[in-house]
Amino acid sequence: MPKIVLDVKEPKEKCEDENCPFHGSLRCRGRTFIGTIISTKMHKTAVAESVRKHYIKKYERYEKRRTKIKAHNPLCINAKEGDIVRMMECRPLSKTKNFVIIEKMGKEKGFKERIEALEAAKFKETKKELEKEEGEEQDAAGES
Ligand SMILES: [Zn+2]
Repeated sequence: MPKIVLDVKEPKEKCEDENCPFHGSLRCRGRTFIGTIISTKMHKTAVAESVRKHYIKKYERYEKRRTKIKAHNPLCINAKEGDIVRMMECRPLSKTKNFVIIEKMGKEKGFKERIEALEAAKFKETKKELEKEEGEEQDAAGES
């Protein structure tokens, strides 16, 4: 039986994971977060990004703040990149991991497009920086 107090749907599949909140002995308590999975490269660990609103008093407006959270990804949930998940706090499972995914809530619309746009922007940035560096080198050469 799940040791979670929230009314989350139990995953259809079963797993043997000791650190699964449904089939193992992991207890969840504390805070919950909803975020989008941005990486599942690590073993049984997913990195989720959560957007929260941060109020700025001076301008009386909100700005978007992003938080990256590492969360345990049990095999029975097996969240993939682009999935929107609910995470809950648990005991520290590793140095930087003290959340566990407890529910898959759906897929983020346009996740692929967003990541592609981000990659393209990063590429542009590095290209710009490289060009700048090259320019500086040429300036230095011209002086001598
Ligand atoms: Zn499980």
